Amino acid sequence: MTATRVPGTPVVEDGVLISTNPASGAEAGRVPVADTEAVTETVRRAAEAARWWQSLGYDGRRERLLRWRSLIVRRIEELAELTTLETGKPHGDAVVETTGAVEHLDWAARNAKRVLGPRRTRTRLLVAEHTGHVEYQPYGVVGVIGPWNYPILTPVGPISGALAAGNAVVLKPSEYTPIIGQWLVDTFAEVVPEQPVLQAVHGLGDVGAALCRSGVGKISFTGSTATAKKVLAACAENLVPAVIEAGGKDALIVDADADIQAAAEAAVWGAMTNAGQTCIGIERVYAVAPIYDAFVNAVTEKAGKLRTGEEIGPITMPRQIDVIREHIDDALAKGGKAVLGGADAVQPPYVSPTVLVDVPADSSEMRDETFGPTLTITKVADANEAIEKANDTPYGLGGAVFGKKNAVRIARRLRSGMVAVNSTLSFVGMGNLPFGGVGESGYGRIHGEDGLREFARSKSITVRRGPSVLPAMTFERTPANIANIIKTLRILYGRK
Ligand code: NDP
Repeated sequence: MTATRVPGTPVVEDGVLISTNPASGAEAGRVPVADTEAVTETVRRAAEAARWWQSLGYDGRRERLLRWRSLIVRRIEELAELTTLETGKPHGDAVVETTGAVEHLDWAARNAKRVLGPRRTRTRLLVAEHTGHVEYQPYGVVGVIGPWNYPILTPVGPISGALAAGNAVVLKPSEYTPIIGQWLVDTFAEVVPEQPVLQAVHGLGDVGAALCRSGVGKISFTGSTATAKKVLAACAENLVPAVIEAGGKDALIVDADADIQAAAEAAVWGAMTNAGQTCIGIERVYAVAPIYDAFVNAVTEKAGKLRTGEEIGPITMPRQIDVIREHIDDALAKGGKAVLGGADAVQPPYVSPTVLVDVPADSSEMRDETFGPTLTITKVADANEAIEKANDTPYGLGGAVFGKKNAVRIARRLRSGMVAVNSTLSFVGMGNLPFGGVGESGYGRIHGEDGLREFARSKSITVRRGPSVLPAMTFERTPANIANIIKTLRILYGRK
């Protein structure tokens, strides 16, 4: 049976997933859909591959991961073209996304040994006859479940950490971007042909659910908060740990001493890049009264120059268009005003840039993730009010502050995992900075040292080197030993 084709909506026909461009409907490619047995078998093969991968050690893995990095860079045009075909994303955005992926791959490969390698800990006086060692052992197989909005960067971050730590990885790409996921797996196999260290399983949400139950050692999930809760419920059945990178409703605060033109440029970029389909996209701005009018004018002028089909690509997931329309309509119905775009901005598969002011805090545009090229700007009296309003959300992923004197102090008070000062989104491009949220945005971290440790378990080993100085953990201890322990404790820790 042939299903009706809506451009961009994936179709499963005879066990094959067909992926298409959201604007033209052109086919991006086909991949076989995995059933539960196939997922389990893939994870079993990955467990074998993981043993070989671990046997290479940090240096062997580093060398292979860096070769994969170089291959991606050499073929960046090919990957960017494929990304434009499958998601509709402008070519430049696909290149920039790949740049971020390459940075994380490079950093994880080069730093895994330093961060995760065995090390001796300092001797503690109460157990002075023991030396302590800590090392990080991989989970075995890590399941990476990814979204469609950044189909290269979002999986490559956790894949890099997991592989560098010594795990094999089974990737479940979004059903909207399976061909990019398969490209990553195929190119990895070109540099590591010996064993299936990185594999993909394709299909709809049930394939992701099967991966959670397949015997993997850990799940790295990036996607919506609603799906994250389903993933955690499935993982809970077998106590499988998970790192959760979920949605956001990030805010930008513009303080009185900000460079207004720079803040407007960064606000427009942060809100509208990738047509606003960015987990760390700026969705709300709180601008203090003295600069509010100038800031709104600057944003409106800059966003007004962006063209759909050029800088603003199509909405990749067709049903998201209804969410964006509902948010704009709700904002306007509740008294908000469109200074750019508005009710007519939604022209599927495109949404033109929309800037809204005076939007009440209870509107869906202010509370829920819009994931479109829309931005609300709210006037506040001062930075304290801005912080209070910015933090009034169950999400807490990223954020940004523009200002001079107090910008970093404001950044510290934002309830989120990351904040960019005098820029937007920049933290995602630094391989040595951890990335992740709080609250409904998830927990755990990818990228940086924390992101490497996320994919390994610490293992503590003590080695006894001589007789006990203060015998305590033995039935052969004497009352004198206990008296000595008390005396030592008082000297070490009992002083005021
Ligand atoms: P979804 O939550 O719809 O899907 C994410 C992934 O989960 C997809 O691969 C999906 O498969 C899979 N999935 C669906 N149902 C299940 C299930 N029951 N068990 C296991 N896996 C399942 O998110 P989107 O793809 O729509 O991505 C957009 C969301 O991702 C936004 O909320 C965005 O903020 C967030 N995001 C967060 C990031 C972060 O780092 N914090 C970065 C990027 C995006 P399928 O596609 O086949 O349904």
